Amino acid sequence: MIKKLIIANWKMHYGPVKAGAWIRAFRRERLPKDMDIGVAVPHVSLPATHASLGRASVPLIGAQNAFWKSDGPFTGEISPDMLKELNVTFCLVGHSERRIHLGETDEMVAQKAAALQAAGIQPVICVGENETEHKKGETLKIVRGQLTAALSKIKTSGTSIIIAYEPIWAIGTGNACTPSDAKKMHEAIRELLNKKFGKAGQTMRIIYGGSVDAHNAAEYISTSHVDGVLVGSASLDPCAFGLLCRSAAIS
Ligand code: PEP
Repeated sequence: MIKKLIIANWKMHYGPVKAGAWIRAFRRERLPKDMDIGVAVPHVSLPATHASLGRASVPLIGAQNAFWKSDGPFTGEISPDMLKELNVTFCLVGHSERRIHLGETDEMVAQKAAALQAAGIQPVICVGENETEHKKGETLKIVRGQLTAALSKIKTSGTSIIIAYEPIWAIGTGNACTPSDAKKMHEAIRELLNKKFGKAGQTMRIIYGGSVDAHNAAEYISTSHVDGVLVGSASLDPCAFGLLCRSAAIS
């Protein structure tokens, strides 16, 4: 059975001071033991986050982006090797906000995912259709296309990967995809993973993201083929995020 996973995505919130405070507050939360919990942190806040975590192992610390080269003349970029030095265990790749605002292409996402895997960091590959594509009934075609591209350089034998299905129209809108629609997409994604990776594909986690909160998290987590959730806005308050994690465990 796949262990469920909840990831907080702070996006561009919390510099080092506030990040440290969030972690200290979250450490006081009672947390379920039967699931993994992670937090995707802005790069500049990674050291403070680790310092506040101390010897605690929850939450797992992740990043929100990485470049595909290990070093060189790429001003402003951060490499997977640099993240590894900061004990980052996972990293988001291809979040729709980066695709939309920074022009990240499927090819860039593929290179980033492969570079992270090579560095021993779990890529969390984000895919999802926009509202127009959704209304036109193109969801499956779009997600399959994004995923096929993103997985093109991934090695079956390397560090395990995570897929996050995040319909763009559901992100930050309060208009979540229904668990039954999410289930259909997750089934299709699982089929693709099985076809590409064989047995290894069966254990790769597929999580859902898009307006998940403490009221609906349990429903997603208990839906078959949904191996966890990626949480944006509802993760910004450490106590509310702790409550969300507990609510999901009761399912
Ligand atoms: C996200 O940014 O990945 C996300 C799912 O955001 P929200 O939970 O705010 O919809």
